[in-house]
Amino acid sequence: MNYHKYYPVDVVNGTGTRCTLFVSGCIHQCRGCYNQSTWKLDSGIPFTQELEDKIIEDLNDTEIKRQGLSLSGGDPLHPNNVPHILKLVKRVKNECPGKDIWLWTGYKISELNEAQKEVVSYLDVMIDGKFVQELKDLSLHWRGSSNQIIHRFTI
Ligand code: SF4
Repeated sequence: MNYHKYYPVDVVNGTGTRCTLFVSGCIHQCRGCYNQSTWKLDSGIPFTQELEDKIIEDLNDTEIKRQGLSLSGGDPLHPNNVPHILKLVKRVKNECPGKDIWLWTGYKISELNEAQKEVVSYLDVMIDGKFVQELKDLSLHWRGSSNQIIHRFTI
């Protein structure tokens, strides 16, 4: 898996102070996508074991308290990303007690395969669906267009 950006301290992608990872790879090709540079799987730079360890360390940092981890892109549920994202979300739930996980995907929840659903089982919040330019609404929180749905599984 490749990624474009990792923000160890972020306050705009989800509630509270968070760690946020933007991964590479997206098949959805939404018109008006704000992040087209992330579409190609081989764009960005490799997601390493060192970065995975750093995310866990940042989430457990007691100086700057984070509420949790946000995963966006690109699409964290692109089939090529799923094994890496699954490993990461499992670690967060096992090693970072009390931290929540938010994930943005262009798939609708009803379209997910079994491997993608396994990732979802570790999430607290998921925002699903493609960005639809005709339904763009700047007043919405955490989503770009009104067709997208915020699934709150635990919070
Ligand atoms: S799902 Fe997100 S990243 Fe992918 S094309 Fe649509 S808006 Fe862009």
